[in-house]
Amino acid sequence: MKNLSRRDFLKLGSAALLAASLPRLEFAQASTPKPAPLIYHGSTRQRYVALTYDDCYLLKRLQDLEILLDAFPEFKITLFPVGVAIENLNRQDRGIWNRFHDKGHEIGYHSWDHKNFGGLSTQFVMDDYARWLDALSNALGFQPLVRFARPTFGSLSPGFDALCRAEGLVSTMWSTGWGGALADGLRAAQRSKNGDIVLMHIRTEDYETSREAYPWMRENGWGAVTLSKLYDDLLIDEHHLNDCEGDLGTSLTRTCME
Ligand SMILES: [Zn+2]
Repeated sequence: MKNLSRRDFLKLGSAALLAASLPRLEFAQASTPKPAPLIYHGSTRQRYVALTYDDCYLLKRLQDLEILLDAFPEFKITLFPVGVAIENLNRQDRGIWNRFHDKGHEIGYHSWDHKNFGGLSTQFVMDDYARWLDALSNALGFQPLVRFARPTFGSLSPGFDALCRAEGLVSTMWSTGWGGALADGLRAAQRSKNGDIVLMHIRTEDYETSREAYPWMRENGWGAVTLSKLYDDLLIDEHHLNDCEGDLGTSLTRTCME
């Protein structure tokens, strides 16, 4: 055998190492796909919060919230109704989901009937989403663009993540909650931070907190935005941050210095 120089040996060594590592790398990538985007809050540079209301079983409270929001047209919210509530409320008040949609509010997925997806198959979750989307599309009269999904009980199961990946949904948690007794809800509201995602439900206590908190927010310069607005601003922030870190020589622009 021909004598190998040290350099040849190193080349051979690294090539062999690379070849040996490739199949394992491919295997690792195939078996652990990148999880769906997951958010807990928005940009800390924005003096707004995203108010989110889950479940939406109670027609009267959703109607009350609609009237309240009419007095705050600059505030936009996101609803996370379960599928059975979409059907029930539309049966009792035809067009209620259209009205929220038309006024610029957003609707996200929160399961058909509030099952905990932990331990359930991906196929089950996919079917559940299809049923929910059908109910919403039937209520609205068209298939809306759905961007956000909140897991029941905040349980981020593999099936839920697989659904979000397959359907291009952003898995959505929260950074604060204004639920519970009025005094607790208002205290939480006053402690909120820029870009918070606020968890509430369509129920009496949370409606009363909203009724008191909205005027306080307006007086104190707080905005309320949909999750789409919050998420798009967050992506813009991250894009600028990457620009600034990636090429300091050319991109130390005003945006990066802000
Ligand atoms: Zn829920």
